Amino acid sequence: MAKNRVPAVEGWFDMNETEPHLIGSRCTACGSYFFPRESYFCRNPECAGSDFEDVPLSSRGKLWSFTDNRYKPPAPYMSPEPFEPYIVAAVELDAEKMVVLGQVAGGIKIQELSAGMEMELFLDTLFEDDDNEYVVWKWRPVA
Ligand SMILES: [Zn+2]
Repeated sequence: MAKNRVPAVEGWFDMNETEPHLIGSRCTACGSYFFPRESYFCRNPECAGSDFEDVPLSSRGKLWSFTDNRYKPPAPYMSPEPFEPYIVAAVELDAEKMVVLGQVAGGIKIQELSAGMEMELFLDTLFEDDDNEYVVWKWRPVA
């Protein structure tokens, strides 16, 4: 029987497998975007807004910076056993111009990446148990 695919972090992204989006919030007063979602007060120092709407964020952007992570992150981070090093990318979203971190697709080598590359979001399994596959967003170069 196929396992359920469920988000590893509830409410941070939609589960659209073909065209996934991170879910951010936008201040209704100044239009600033936030990810993860903001719900109390606007972090723009020049704005007194406290009203936000949920918005799907750009699923493409430019590779801003990247590094490889060779140490297993501490709990509550869940990672497959045995731990395998992975690349972390900071991607500047096309429309919102905000930088969002995420793992890079497994199998991509750090030598294949360069700043300014076009990247796209996709959903991938982070870890699984007997019933579920827990899914996160990751980045990969646009083919
Ligand atoms: Zn604002």
